[in-house]
Amino acid sequence: ALPDAQELLAGLNPQQEEAVKHAGSPLLIIAGAGSGKTRVLSHRIAHLLATKRARPGEILAITFTNKAAAEMRERIESLVGDRAKNMWISTFHSSCVRILRREAKNVGLNSNFSIYDSADTLRLITLVAKGLDLDPKRFPPKSIQHKISALKNELIDDEAYAATANYSDPFEQAVAEVYKDYTQRMRQANAMDFDDLIAQVVFIFQAFPAVADSYRRRFRHVLVDEYQDTNHAQYVLVRELTGGTGETEQDFPPGELTVVGDSDQSIYAFRGADVRNIVEFEKDYANARTILLEQNYRSTQTILTAANAVISRNPNRPAKRLWTAEGDGERIIGYVGENEHDEARFIANEIDRLQDAENLRPGDVAIFYRTNAQSRSIEDLLIRVGLPYKVVGGTRFYERKEIKDALAYLRVLVNPDDVVNLRRILNEPKRGIGDRAEYAVAALAERDRLSFMEALRKAHDAPGMATRSVNAVAGFVKLIDDLTEVANGSGASAALEAVLEQTGYLAALRQSNDPQDESRVENLAELVAVVREYERDNEDGTLGSFLEQVALVADADQIPDAPDEESAQLAKDQGVVTLMTLHTAKGLEFPVVFLTGMEHGVFPHQRSMTDPKELAEERRLAYVGLTRARKRLYLTRSESRSLWGQSQYNPASQFIEEVPPELIDWKREGSKRPAFTSSGSFGSSRYSGSHWGAGAGGNQDVSSLPGSARSMAPAAVRAGRVQPQKEVIALTVGDRVNHTSFGNGTVLSLEGAGDKTVAKVKFDIGEKRLLLRYAPLTKS
Ligand code: ATP
Ligand code: MG
Repeated sequence: ALPDAQELLAGLNPQQEEAVKHAGSPLLIIAGAGSGKTRVLSHRIAHLLATKRARPGEILAITFTNKAAAEMRERIESLVGDRAKNMWISTFHSSCVRILRREAKNVGLNSNFSIYDSADTLRLITLVAKGLDLDPKRFPPKSIQHKISALKNELIDDEAYAATANYSDPFEQAVAEVYKDYTQRMRQANAMDFDDLIAQVVFIFQAFPAVADSYRRRFRHVLVDEYQDTNHAQYVLVRELTGGTGETEQDFPPGELTVVGDSDQSIYAFRGADVRNIVEFEKDYANARTILLEQNYRSTQTILTAANAVISRNPNRPAKRLWTAEGDGERIIGYVGENEHDEARFIANEIDRLQDAENLRPGDVAIFYRTNAQSRSIEDLLIRVGLPYKVVGGTRFYERKEIKDALAYLRVLVNPDDVVNLRRILNEPKRGIGDRAEYAVAALAERDRLSFMEALRKAHDAPGMATRSVNAVAGFVKLIDDLTEVANGSGASAALEAVLEQTGYLAALRQSNDPQDESRVENLAELVAVVREYERDNEDGTLGSFLEQVALVADADQIPDAPDEESAQLAKDQGVVTLMTLHTAKGLEFPVVFLTGMEHGVFPHQRSMTDPKELAEERRLAYVGLTRARKRLYLTRSESRSLWGQSQYNPASQFIEEVPPELIDWKREGSKRPAFTSSGSFGSSRYSGSHWGAGAGGNQDVSSLPGSARSMAPAAVRAGRVQPQKEVIALTVGDRVNHTSFGNGTVLSLEGAGDKTVAKVKFDIGEKRLLLRYAPLTKS
């Protein structure tokens, strides 16, 4: 049953209560980290239902990352139960995809359009620029991509840009040309990039007022979390949804808008986020009500004091002090590793120690870093010591070549017009269709105005095609047709397995002697597991809907939790250590937080060294990171770090120096040799607090760390991929086995060898394919 309205207000402070009860005019809640903004949103939604001011289907709640959306859904579900199912609680991108699928015909798209992530987009832009004979050194495709993205975020389409660009500037001219061709190619490919998702919805709303009205009528309450990170397109979208312009005639009142945010946590300027949206809310929305929250319920005073000290160095911000009734809590712990492996080892050992001494669960711990590349050394060590973890952040898994290849096949099966993916797989694995044949087909498509797929079917007509190539192309077309049949008849996982087998992709990897190809096979096995899990969780899920989810997940931030059975089980009991970039951490909280790589040039990022604006953004990112911690905060760095194959010696991050020294307890403060200084001012690291080994209780120094970790020389980690040490169970077909979640079963088949063995097992609940390295199986 729904809690009554009064229960929902219990425990809120007066400002929070006011925000939950407010009705009518647009509402802005601004407040520092951990002051209950997201909690107020959740309670507000529940309160709307409890007071019968809204039905679930009338609620649209928008957050920034998939992870934050999932957490908000959980919070709301815990208040209103199943009613949450009928609400839209999602990211901007997911909501827009949903709207687009329904309205696609209005923009001349099929509703089965592909979503291109930024790597796909870059591929296409590179192709287009090449076609225009643009010198990639003068006009790097990446810069063009960035500019086009920025234009889309400003809702400037190719035509508008062509009309306003400064043609005496060669770069602007190049962008205008590429933008035009790119737009056309995307249309031909029936594809959207990430920025299109938002811009196209805005376009539809503006061009088709009746469509816009239907959504305005539907969503009577629009609530946006992390409003400080909205860009112009998102801002306009929100305005359109709540009918804020007053320009259209409506026979119903505008929907109610609630936005919450914190300008100190604005960290997406590089994606066009504009803090002015929050700063000028009161100007944009006449009669808006603003509520400030000041009490922090998340962190200890020590953590807040540190965060306040860092953020207060940013210029042009209103002084704002968070306070808490929590008390000081533990001191912050600092550690300087000799190198990144030593730093990682310290982290792993601290987690180990806290597990023993304080009954901490791995799920209580988060490890943050500035850039994705930094996760590798930490991952290596966590694997080595057997601490279960997950990396939140798509790049790792979905950006791998083999995964992208497999997904490219699947995308083509769903949308044969998807030319980028089609060309990606044309000769992958090698089947004798070379560049010349590819260009001949492209030329034919151009000449006869065919889609690339249609041109492939007529390849025998293409001028300049060798007979050999014609045959190879015919084979490819036949292959795609066969696979399409499987996809249409048997669903997503069958399609993926058919792709891997029938294309010869898997066979080629299995025959290879390259050790990297072994791990590719393993990754593909993981992908199969991901699809199966998707099918298990979504009974009506189609290949198309799976691909959509992957596209959104891969770009935004999240890899589906626990792709294998064992970690799924562990995740339930104990949770796993979470690794993520600081950007992804926004909105989340953890009892224990490690901020790693706190080095000048790493964080703050090298790029921000010469630009005060960028440095201010890095500082906000530091503020976001520091304020994720509830009870314990660690700041770690290393004296040397290998980046891009070279050792770098970075001095301490200025953000460490800005934390009042009495708050930090140093467990190891770095070697006595003078720190390498790259740019004078930050080079002289000064430390206070205890020296290493002299920490509280005296048992925290590195020499008393658990054996497995201590005995491992960092060099061993650096030498290569560290595999889990778990023995792979030896099985033969027909063996009876027991699985911790699926119960008893019989082995039907085995593929691969060693720790890449995949077993097909028949359980009572059905057949499962298990990667033996991970599966919690015993012989019975
Ligand atoms: P961020 O800026 O990081 O997104 P936030 O302002 O959204 O933070 P929340 O995540 O909503 O803050 O709240 C932080 C923590 O404080 C949560 O654990 C929340 O449950 C708790 N909290 C908020 N308000 C109260 C309250 N009135 N009583 C008890 N706990 C509260
Ligand atoms: Mg929040």
